[in-house]
Amino acid sequence: MINVPEIYGCMVFNDSVMKARLPEEVYSSLTKTIQTGKTIDVSIANEVADAMKDWACELGATHYTHWFQPLTNVTAEKHDAFICPVGRDKVIMAFSGKELIKGESDASSFPSGGLRETCNARGYTAWDPSSYAFIKDKTLYIPTVFFSYGGESLDAKTPLLRSMDAISEQALRVLNAIGETGASRVITSVGAEQEYFLINKDFYDKREDLIYTGRTLFGAPAPKGEELEDHYYGPLKTKVSAYMSDLDAELWRLGISAKTKHNEVAPSQHELAPIYSPTSVALDHNMLIMDTMKRVAERHGMVALLHEKPYAGISGSGKHNNWSLSTDTGENLLSPGKNPASNTRFLLFLAAIIRAVDEYQDLLRFSVATPGNDHRLGANEAPPAIVSIFLGDELEAIVEAIIGNTDYTEKARLKANIGVPSVPTFRYDSTDRNRTSPFAFTGNKFEFRMLGAAQNIAMPNIVLNTAVASALSDIADALEGAQDIQSAAKRLIKDTLTSHRRIIFNGNGYSEEWIAEAERRGLSNLKTSVDAYPALLAQKNIELFGKFGVMNEAELRARHAVLFETYCKTISIEARTMTDIVNKKIIPAIERYLCELATTAKRKREVCGEDVCRLEKGLIKNLSELCESVHESSQRLKDLTVAAKSKTSSKGSAEYYRDFVRPEMARLRLLVDAAEQITPADLWPLPSYGEMTYKQ
Ligand code: ADP
Ligand code: MG
Repeated sequence: MINVPEIYGCMVFNDSVMKARLPEEVYSSLTKTIQTGKTIDVSIANEVADAMKDWACELGATHYTHWFQPLTNVTAEKHDAFICPVGRDKVIMAFSGKELIKGESDASSFPSGGLRETCNARGYTAWDPSSYAFIKDKTLYIPTVFFSYGGESLDAKTPLLRSMDAISEQALRVLNAIGETGASRVITSVGAEQEYFLINKDFYDKREDLIYTGRTLFGAPAPKGEELEDHYYGPLKTKVSAYMSDLDAELWRLGISAKTKHNEVAPSQHELAPIYSPTSVALDHNMLIMDTMKRVAERHGMVALLHEKPYAGISGSGKHNNWSLSTDTGENLLSPGKNPASNTRFLLFLAAIIRAVDEYQDLLRFSVATPGNDHRLGANEAPPAIVSIFLGDELEAIVEAIIGNTDYTEKARLKANIGVPSVPTFRYDSTDRNRTSPFAFTGNKFEFRMLGAAQNIAMPNIVLNTAVASALSDIADALEGAQDIQSAAKRLIKDTLTSHRRIIFNGNGYSEEWIAEAERRGLSNLKTSVDAYPALLAQKNIELFGKFGVMNEAELRARHAVLFETYCKTISIEARTMTDIVNKKIIPAIERYLCELATTAKRKREVCGEDVCRLEKGLIKNLSELCESVHESSQRLKDLTVAAKSKTSSKGSAEYYRDFVRPEMARLRLLVDAAEQITPADLWPLPSYGEMTYKQ
């Protein structure tokens, strides 16, 4: 039995530890930096470092590491022991302010998209005091940002922190303009719901596709998938429940507020959601959640799969990014209040978000573009690749009334009456849910639902924060110069909603009609990652990021280059894994079965004559033909991969991978899956879909 309040955050150098261990003036200087985002006073670094080291050593730590998020989608760390020699044969544990604040490494093996010349390989990490240090694996982890010798960010977090500052500044301007002067910072918060699959490690170890690519590249469907809708919220299996308890406890120790857990739609798919926190903290926590999911799974003889589409034919995994804006005085700016129709502040922020999502729909789509997510978006299980906003009936009616200059009459909220007197009654929510919307208002926050399960949540939030900052900045410009603020605000709200109404869509985002309707409305429909990546370098987008100091053009070009490169490498690894499995496992297995069939037929013929061999002959013919096709397709795939690599630009390569390599991969898969369905289970070299998804 664990005592949750007692263990919660016990591995975190958090506010109460700081308060207890730091001299008062050091503590207050550090908390000021944490709360306001103001520059840290470096003279306190030595004392903070010393206190961190003492605390960490008491809890068994021997090492420290600067922990950062390079452009690889996973975190990076290099552990250094605290040891410092004294005399010839003794050491003490030491950690200096300099070591806390700054790290320097040869960063040439991290993707930089050309930002670092080879002769200029230095990369720097710098302490990010807005995120608490913590202990994991006997090591003190110090969250840091990562940048080049020239000061360009080489990580996911630096631009996120910049975007949080940008939106805070612009939101404060709007608040001040409408006479609300109490706040000194506006904070974006995020609650990221994380989906994942669990698979038995014995099966995982037999699947090179899972090992190398994170997803199954072959596999005939199991007789039962998710048709009966009996897994979503279903009772937890004992093994899964034990895993989840262990995972929760581990996360709580790290001060991560794991709150909700349940079975998801697909068999062996699950979800975990923490309580929301400021975005940069939510980012670190999400990275830690993904990492902890994998580590704890090992202890339970399982593997956690975070890929967006581990299995074809059943739902993939996403990540819902619940996003809101609030002041440091605790007011949620997206809370509609009792009477949203006359809540000017709410309507101003709502209008800004609607405008931002419309004007930067291409960037939002870009921000969730990954090779893995290409299997989900637009594939009738996740939101479509078209970005639109769902407001719900009440807000939509308010928006329509504002645009049409009509009065909005509030609909009475219905009382739930289910005809069972003993069940307590309550009023229904003012919005129903719309699962098909990529960007939905859910009461006092927006839920951006296009994110892939494996992705780093920084980019979607960078885009959201910066785009909304831009809309707020224009609103602030207009309000600051106005004589009559109320009527200027009203006019602004009306004009903004009228201009950007096309992005609002309350209907079924999965339908064919919506695709046609969206096209009529002029909304962009960037179907694949390769279509979406160029959006980053659209002139209006370079200007947006530049204007708010979030990313300069060199930083954008670097990310653009890394994304195309990563896309090509990902598909190339998948294709090579396929040909490898085909040559070393699939074809030999089929041949073995053919040999068995031929031997059986021969023996049967010896005993009973030709008539009794029809089944074997039929099977041999079918399977031989399939096997030949498998071989041909695999050869073709190999040739296409070579051709893709030889393109002169990485964009050209990526397009080739998308248009030629991926379709061949799909053909090869179909052939192999057909062969699997007529080959005995004990000869098939890969665990089946049924085993992997039903026998955790
Ligand atoms: P759902 O019913 O959408 O699956 P969950 O409980 O799984 O809901 O997740 C909702 C997420 O939204 C949680 O992480 C929760 O903390 C977060 N959330 C709630 N309120 C806010 C808010 N104001 N801002 C940001 N996130 C929020
Ligand atoms: Mg959820």
